[in-house]
Amino acid sequence: MANVQVPVVAIGAFGDSPVQMTCPTCHQTVVTKVDFSSGVLTYLFCGGLFFCGFVLGCCLIPFCFDRLKDAKHMCPSCKTILGVYKRL
Ligand SMILES: [Zn+2]
Repeated sequence: MANVQVPVVAIGAFGDSPVQMTCPTCHQTVVTKVDFSSGVLTYLFCGGLFFCGFVLGCCLIPFCFDRLKDAKHMCPSCKTILGVYKRL
């Protein structure tokens, strides 16, 4: 398992990086999958990264997108949206 090292943060303290937490829905300890919304290009980009993320088990979203878009944290197991980090 090639897990990136992430800080453990409390619910509600989401940033633009994946966080490790216990999913309230499926009760598994997961590293959130970060999805970035807004913009067609970003959307398409995320579509590809979505599948890459599944294969590799972690997010490989470039920092340039990290800096510009809202980050939506999802449970990789049950797909529940666990939190949203907004830039603005
Ligand atoms: Zn879950």
